[in-house]
Amino acid sequence: MTEEGSQSGLIYEKYYKGSDRIDVGAYFNNFRDTIKNSSFHKHFQSQDELDMIRCIGRDVDREKFELLENYCSIDKLTVCGELEKIPNKNVYDWCKDPDDSLLGEEINLQTVHDTKQRNLLKNYQLHGKYKSEKPISYDQETETDSELLEPENDVLIYVRVYVPFTSRHKQSTGALGTLSVNYAIALHGSQTLDALKDKISCPSDHSISTEMSSNPVRQRTKNAKDVYKSGFFFIEDTFYNDSREPGNKDNSKVIREWASSKNYGTYKTAKMEETRIDSLILRFGYPWVYQHQGDCEHLICFSDARLVNPTDILNKTCYPQIVRIKPRPTRYCMTCGIYHVSWVMTSNDRLPHNPCLFCESCFKSYNYIDGEKIGSFQAYPYPYDCDLLPK
Ligand SMILES: [Zn+2]
Ligand SMILES: [Zn+2]
Repeated sequence: MTEEGSQSGLIYEKYYKGSDRIDVGAYFNNFRDTIKNSSFHKHFQSQDELDMIRCIGRDVDREKFELLENYCSIDKLTVCGELEKIPNKNVYDWCKDPDDSLLGEEINLQTVHDTKQRNLLKNYQLHGKYKSEKPISYDQETETDSELLEPENDVLIYVRVYVPFTSRHKQSTGALGTLSVNYAIALHGSQTLDALKDKISCPSDHSISTEMSSNPVRQRTKNAKDVYKSGFFFIEDTFYNDSREPGNKDNSKVIREWASSKNYGTYKTAKMEETRIDSLILRFGYPWVYQHQGDCEHLICFSDARLVNPTDILNKTCYPQIVRIKPRPTRYCMTCGIYHVSWVMTSNDRLPHNPCLFCESCFKSYNYIDGEKIGSFQAYPYPYDCDLLPK
């Protein structure tokens, strides 16, 4: 790693250490060699008892195996007065879809039903680390003609993407906002960084911000993501630009020139569509940057990497895949507090807030008489995925 690479992390170095730099490809090549001679990992491949006995690799007959199985039973960990054991299913599935049979006798009241379910979820909320994030579970794809990941050979890498902060937000509120994760995405090692970019969804990518106060009619337009396609990831000492479209710009150029003029080092550039995830040298747990739409920046963090298990979704087309998401509250109208925001208004001297967020109804009734604008202000449609607007 270059001198510049270490300089690039100056901003966060004080707060975030991350792991040592790990060459993902080389690390897992070594790891595959290490487990090649071990048979323990093969327990995934079969539930057959004889295979299990073979995996142990010792002189164990069936009788001894059953005795051993009894000694190692999870029931041995139970103590008197303990809560009822969770059924043998993935805790994520459990949180998402509780088993109604646990509610006991049949009760017809919906409120009692909901309260019992909520209490049950509280009791079984085991993953405290991720309790604010909602796990997403997917059905195993059964299509046989699609390419499959190979267990214990292919690599899965997890990336946490944080909510954005923008210079526009800072100008309007004076703050960069709090650091909060948006979702965690899983990719397999042979995917390139552009697949990660395409999977990241951000309000800045939805609708094109246009001043519409003189004719405030929301219409279907193109999403900003389909018009302004430039963007980059900044990882270690390199800016990985999206160069898939000939019209895309190198947004890192101005930053590299600024860094060079301030003696903060020189930085490399590369194409994100040519950079495989497993070719990266990463510090896990260390924050890097995804930038798009000119000034929308997200911290991203590579949080984990491991070999694929047979129990993972093996269909390659299912990746990148959002594995956890942090639900975000809906923004409500600042006037009625009932309906969701449809308009953002700025520079209105008849209002105490700047910007001010309105629902469709309050916006029209407060700012227009018979369709005529009252006073002076600017109005912008609240970012919303245009594909979801009625035609
Ligand atoms: Zn963004
Ligand atoms: Zn309202």
